[in-house]
Amino acid sequence: MTDIAIEMVSVNKWFSDFHVLKDIDLTVKSGERVVICGPSGSGKSTVVRCINRLETHQKGSIRIYGSEVTERPEDLRGDVGMVFQQFNLFPHLSVLENLTLGPMKSRGLSRAEAEDRARRYLERVKIPEQADKRPGQLSGGQQQRVAIARSLCMEPKVMLFDEPTSALDPEMISEVLDVMVELAEEGMTMIVVTHEMGFARKVADKMVFMDAGEIVETGAPAEFFGNPKSRRCQTFLSQIL
Ligand code: ADP
Ligand code: MG
Repeated sequence: MTDIAIEMVSVNKWFSDFHVLKDIDLTVKSGERVVICGPSGSGKSTVVRCINRLETHQKGSIRIYGSEVTERPEDLRGDVGMVFQQFNLFPHLSVLENLTLGPMKSRGLSRAEAEDRARRYLERVKIPEQADKRPGQLSGGQQQRVAIARSLCMEPKVMLFDEPTSALDPEMISEVLDVMVELAEEGMTMIVVTHEMGFARKVADKMVFMDAGEIVETGAPAEFFGNPKSRRCQTFLSQIL
């Protein structure tokens, strides 16, 4: 078993004739936390969506624990969990039902087993008392924690977060980031697209800066924030910090 969780080599993608990802090389080791930042439209979401097969790339290789994403069987999809900016919960189902659906359908758990697991992860994101509500009855921060719990219920090996706090009111951001910090401390392998640089400094092993479809700069947080090398990265950081 390789200790490389995700390996992207020379990944290129086009939307028709628009070259959205240009020779992306990115390696994430098992247990590593990588934070991706960069201006809007730079390709951050497309990178994580290619890893999760929500988009397909046209050139290059994406391997997850050694196997090419294009060749991985459908039942391994749950190995990679994803949390979106918009929570993508089923509005007509209870919180508990949102959490039990995946494990019953694609992991073969009985209802009792799935509910047991769901309650465990609701504890972990600190909202066990919300199990029987509908998503619409919860705050944005609570809904996002449900979305995180729903991903965890599939017991993924890697978690991808795409701007998980961007749609939240400011007072709800920290309750979601706190859960993510705990996940990181427990050793979860994570790729997080975010502009929350306080979070990034706290948990990132590696920072990645993207612009115009390219990875322009990568580095350990101290180096990345203290001494960004490229002009584009300096400009970006000066705008958001
Ligand atoms: P980011 O997440 O960094 O804001 P995205 O990965 O969402 O950037 O998008 C990168 C570029 O690709 C943007 O110019 C966006 O408009 C374009 N794009 C994203 N999705 C599609 C799509 N399905 N079809 C065509 N263009 C797209
Ligand atoms: Mg995006």
